[in-house]
Amino acid sequence: MFIMSGQGGTESFNRAKLLNVGYTEALKDHDYGCFVFSDVDLIPMDDRNTYACFDQPRHLSVSIDKFGFRLPYYQIFGGASSMSKEQFLKINGFSNNYWGWGGEDDDIYNSGVVGNCRMIRHDRDKKNEPNPQRFNRLAHTRENMGKDGINSLTYTVTSTERLPLYTYITVEVGKP
Ligand code: BGC
Repeated sequence: MFIMSGQGGTESFNRAKLLNVGYTEALKDHDYGCFVFSDVDLIPMDDRNTYACFDQPRHLSVSIDKFGFRLPYYQIFGGASSMSKEQFLKINGFSNNYWGWGGEDDDIYNSGVVGNCRMIRHDRDKKNEPNPQRFNRLAHTRENMGKDGINSLTYTVTSTERLPLYTYITVEVGKP
């Protein structure tokens, strides 16, 4: 199943919450065991990079044109990643508390114990400015992960469109 979760309303963008929503909504349809979380601007360039789950969470978009097809830093976990349901629940999913750009992928990297992609060029959206509080939050991932994630996720689905290739869900995720 392919779910696209889009944020409705006019508040700050929250990528991690949208990924938590995709996970939660997919499970309402079927008891899936594997989840691939991908940004909409990432196009895999080689189908040998299998979008599947493995015995460890996997960062799939390890080589992006924007970063010269190299990892910009060793710990990066953003873009596209896969996790089994078990792996995702073990770390309580993504944090719900990263508003605006940045940090939420580093946070899930902190909580955890190999492809070429092209990134669609686009400007930064309004309400997705770099989040200056991310560094502070990132210092406390391990402290907060047990109470901030899937078990504290709140959102309102405002529309669901079942399209031939994917389900498009628009959600209000609240504000910082
Ligand atoms: C941000 C991440 C982002 C990465 C690559 C980091 O500084 O915290 O969220 O994925 O840069 O752009």
